[in-house]
Amino acid sequence: MAVSSMSEVNFDSLSMSQDEACDCIYRMLAKIGVAEDLNVSDDTIRHFANEIPDYYNHVPFHCFQHCVMVSQMTFLVLTRCSLGKSIGQRQSTSLILAALCHDMQHPGLSNEYLLRTGHEFAQAYKTSPLENHHIACAHKLMSSGIANSIPDSEREQLLRDMREYILATDLSNHTGIMTEVETITPIFDIANPSHLRTLCKLVLKCSDVSNECRPQPVASRWLNKLNEEFWAQGDQEKSEGFTPKPIMDREMADIGHQQVGFLSDLVIPMFEDLCKLVPPFEDLALTSLRASLQHYSAAVEDQATV
Ligand SMILES: [Zn+2]
Repeated sequence: MAVSSMSEVNFDSLSMSQDEACDCIYRMLAKIGVAEDLNVSDDTIRHFANEIPDYYNHVPFHCFQHCVMVSQMTFLVLTRCSLGKSIGQRQSTSLILAALCHDMQHPGLSNEYLLRTGHEFAQAYKTSPLENHHIACAHKLMSSGIANSIPDSEREQLLRDMREYILATDLSNHTGIMTEVETITPIFDIANPSHLRTLCKLVLKCSDVSNECRPQPVASRWLNKLNEEFWAQGDQEKSEGFTPKPIMDREMADIGHQQVGFLSDLVIPMFEDLCKLVPPFEDLALTSLRASLQHYSAAVEDQATV
């Protein structure tokens, strides 16, 4: 796939080589102005981009290519929806870096599973074990050069912001964050740092579940990968004598209904909230998401009439 598609919604990291995807990350960081912001060379940025795949596991869904898809959607919101101009350079930098690091070393298992089985991440972190581990990985990568040329206090703030955005991707924090979003929307003030951070959390949360904004063949490949990962966990749970949740059970899964519920209950309301704060996001993403809901709803109706 041509790197030129990096400014388009039809972007698909699965059709790119790893080198092409790293080049794409480098170009996104260059376009956002991360090198100038962090006072590092272009080579440092390129090296940083090339290191990212090493921080992702070869799991079906939460892999390097997922990180690239999520980061590219965040990039589109920053550039094509002009959010970068409103939130400023440093927030744009922290948001794109958080997107790139947001699932590092994901083992392809859910937080619930890790907590229930006493996985090492759950021993290290009592809440959000996955996200806290992704944050620890982000700190390690960030300490290798990209953030070393800014004052300590700025680096600490950058890492704090990235931490907050990555933690927001844990869906167990969803309700709390959406309450924050609803509280600030009528009185939104871009100059208020707390409003700004809530908006950035919402952008990363939406980017993380934005596959269904992509053309249908792309979205469907990603859905297959997600199911592959869920069902592998379900198989493992069964082998351990535990009954998996229906979505994790390959024999119980009802993909059409699940997609209708996921899109109508979680994804679309969240995208609508982001559109209130970033209106160009509607044409960029929400319209195609509504079409996707129609597609799954029709499939479910067809299923019911058979
Ligand atoms: Zn993710």
